[in-house]
Amino acid sequence: MSFAATTTATPLFRIKRSTRGVPRTRMAVRSSTISVAPMLTKLQSDCATPLPVLLHVADSMSTDMHAGLAVDGGSDLKMILSYVDSLPTGNEKGLFYALDLGGTNFRVLRVQLGGKEERVIATEFEQVTIPEKLMFGTSEELFDFIASVLANFAQQEGGKFHLPPGRKREIGFTFSFPVKQTSIDSGILMKWTKGFAVSGTAGKDVVACLNEAMDRKGLDMRVSALVNDAVGTLAGARYWDDDVVVAVILGTGTNACYVERMDAIPKMQGKFSPSGRTIVNLEWGAFSKGLPLTVFDRDMDAASINPGEQIFEKTISGMYLGEIARRALLNMAEEGALFGESVPEKLSMPFILVTPHLSAMQQDNADDLQTVGSILYDVVGVESNLNSRKIVIEVCDTIVKRAGRLAGAGIVGILQKLGKDSKSAIFGKRTVVAMDGGLYERYPQCRRYIKEAVAELLGPETSQNIVIEHSKDGSGIGAALLAATNSQYDHDY
Ligand code: ADP
Ligand code: MG
Repeated sequence: MSFAATTTATPLFRIKRSTRGVPRTRMAVRSSTISVAPMLTKLQSDCATPLPVLLHVADSMSTDMHAGLAVDGGSDLKMILSYVDSLPTGNEKGLFYALDLGGTNFRVLRVQLGGKEERVIATEFEQVTIPEKLMFGTSEELFDFIASVLANFAQQEGGKFHLPPGRKREIGFTFSFPVKQTSIDSGILMKWTKGFAVSGTAGKDVVACLNEAMDRKGLDMRVSALVNDAVGTLAGARYWDDDVVVAVILGTGTNACYVERMDAIPKMQGKFSPSGRTIVNLEWGAFSKGLPLTVFDRDMDAASINPGEQIFEKTISGMYLGEIARRALLNMAEEGALFGESVPEKLSMPFILVTPHLSAMQQDNADDLQTVGSILYDVVGVESNLNSRKIVIEVCDTIVKRAGRLAGAGIVGILQKLGKDSKSAIFGKRTVVAMDGGLYERYPQCRRYIKEAVAELLGPETSQNIVIEHSKDGSGIGAALLAATNSQYDHDY
């Protein structure tokens, strides 16, 4: 793992000597780069995250955590109790299922657990994209779809998977939207996020919604644990490593959770956990303090289905980075003639540019930035020259750098909260932050910026003990493990 002490913006227009294969610069574009340059500089300064900004974000995160633990509604952070107070030990045995409804994708998974010696004997999973119309349909339609995918998947069980006779199949349900948990196997949806606007679910128990849909399909399975993806990731990573205390998701949306002492949660009012600990879900997408925002963020927020909400999520998560970049590029095309005299029509279409495009463009190491050129051509229908491609890359980098560094500051905020609390002193010993989600997994620059910001904030010595590691698809296995831990049948793990 490499930690750089500071990060400096990549110099602009570092034009390589070789111009092999580069189209001749046209007059219009040459004059345009002169006016685009200050626009880019302005974007970079509006998105800048120097150390004082990061420190402020980390401090505010930590303060908001305290306030949210004190009373419900005490801060932007809901600090939701997960009702997960026993974490996997490694001894879990048997066949368990997991469902993961997270945003873009829906996954079903089964796992055969063999206890400490054999661990994970076998897993199988299936992934389907949620049809877009279901994101705007009714609750019944969405849950019927989930139940039918599950029914189909369960039917194909065989081979190494065995269920003892007389038992129901138990499910860990990862549902990654803000839920007010009422027990380990029930929770009320507070609101949809990440572009979902399904009617009739908010205010209802999502486990009941799923149970009713399974009944309609004649599927006899039982939800033993309702968790979100951050909680599932923490449980999944903890199965392998006892030092995992924080989990962060950076996918379509973003969230974080951590292991807290019961007596550090004033709003628990005497509730009891045998372990003395519980996982607290920050719902950190709702965080909003001290974030460097641009006019593009504000306009995107205003046009969103939840204006004024989920500001941290809108600044750092995968659903939005492409759209912020699109808005910045459109502005540069309109006012700085970034792509010449005319403005490509498709660039005006919201969400036409998505975060995987940004990532793909940033991986282009060719002299002529051929990949950048073809993505721009394919996605927004524009012919670009080398200069404009370089500017596009700088725009992508500016947006992802801000996202990664702010996510890093958020992580440090959680560590600070744990560190201030002397009884759970985490500094000075190995502490693992488990990360997952498509953005973290598939955007190398994002990963690097997170780690750089954490190292910058904590300094070289402390950050040596902080391990930020990818827990790939940990949330699926994690949910299945929590179904095992919370099984209704007798067990001794
Ligand atoms: P979800 O958050 O929907 O559960 P994932 O964790 O798989 O699902 O994350 C999917 C998100 O990750 C996408 O919406 C996208 O924003 C982001 N993503 C996927 N692929 C890439 C990529 N190659 N580069 C950057 N971001 C990506
Ligand atoms: Mg997910």
